[in-house]
Amino acid sequence: MIDVTLESVSKRFARGGDTAAVADVDITIAAGEFFTLLGPSGCGKTTTLRMVAGFYFPTSGRIRFGTEDVTRRPPNKRDTGMVFQNYALFPHLSVAQNVAYGLKIRKVGRAESQRRVEEALGQVHLAGYGDRRIDELSGGQQQRVALARALVIRPKTLLLDEPLSNLDAKLREETRTEIRRIQQEAGTTGIYVTHDQAEAMAMSDRIAVMQAGRVQQIGAPQEIYHRPATSFVARFIGRSNVLTLPVLGGTERTVTVGLPGGGEIDVPAPAGHGLRQGETAQVSVRPEHIGLTSTTEAGALPGQIVELEFTGMATNLVVDTAGERMQMAAVDVPAGIAVGDQVGLRLNRDRMWVVRP
Ligand code: ATP
Repeated sequence: MIDVTLESVSKRFARGGDTAAVADVDITIAAGEFFTLLGPSGCGKTTTLRMVAGFYFPTSGRIRFGTEDVTRRPPNKRDTGMVFQNYALFPHLSVAQNVAYGLKIRKVGRAESQRRVEEALGQVHLAGYGDRRIDELSGGQQQRVALARALVIRPKTLLLDEPLSNLDAKLREETRTEIRRIQQEAGTTGIYVTHDQAEAMAMSDRIAVMQAGRVQQIGAPQEIYHRPATSFVARFIGRSNVLTLPVLGGTERTVTVGLPGGGEIDVPAPAGHGLRQGETAQVSVRPEHIGLTSTTEAGALPGQIVELEFTGMATNLVVDTAGERMQMAAVDVPAGIAVGDQVGLRLNRDRMWVVRP
């Protein structure tokens, strides 16, 4: 395993117009870490991964593996294993022949190759499947063959580009745990690309959230969820209400804001937020951090239920409070509660957070 560093990496495509697909990306991934590039379609995550793999060269910036500069090194000289979204297996070859492919290119001898193919198939729990044809396997098994093929060369970094997107929901959940286990057992640095925030949070040591070619925030899943840097991150990771509220005062780590319909509240904020009285602050509050109470409770925001949806685990509500539409997710709601009811909202101040616009 090896650490991977991207220093001010940018990529412009000849046919990409004026905008860079990837702009000024700085990321340091520690050896053995499972690191995810997360963001909506077109944000530049695949392009970033392909630059780490060597399929694209950056327009500017550097990529290092450990202390070695690999910015312009071809893919086959980088010791990376890659798993693609569509697996890119050879349908006419057997499972063992598919897995052995990287060894053949590297001119590894037959006995050694056989041994390593069996070892890799064991790692992905496909021992005994070597003679099968690819089209005799389920989607989930094909995905494991693709993983074995990447692992067989004992890569220093394992690069995975949306490897679960062809699997159904249940298999996706099972397989994401498997991928994490395999990466740790193989002892490689894992770099994973997905647009699925739940998947990213469940699997990763750290996540880089990308938007329009730029990194918005890098952090552990809990950090990104509870302390989103920007309104985009707050909305993209899980769900969030991002309120624009007047700033009444503040300290180094809090901002005092006025609430819709009156009242004020001190909200935790990142150091150096720089917000002053008279400006507006963007405040993120997650649906599960708003409590439902009666209109008479002191300090509760009065509101009216405009949408109500029972999902089993929680009841999702939309409540209109002084013209702001607040999303809520309540585990317990009073029996008989309905659209049109007047309710009180209790905001969990400690779980609110000031974000950048
Ligand atoms: P998705 O989840 O849809 O795969 P992504 O986040 O991986 O999206 P990229 O594939 O990295 O996004 O694309 C980033 C931007 O670069 C997009 O605007 C895309 O159209 C553009 N782009 C990607 N590859 C090329 C190319 N070969 N030539 C020109 N533009 C490209």
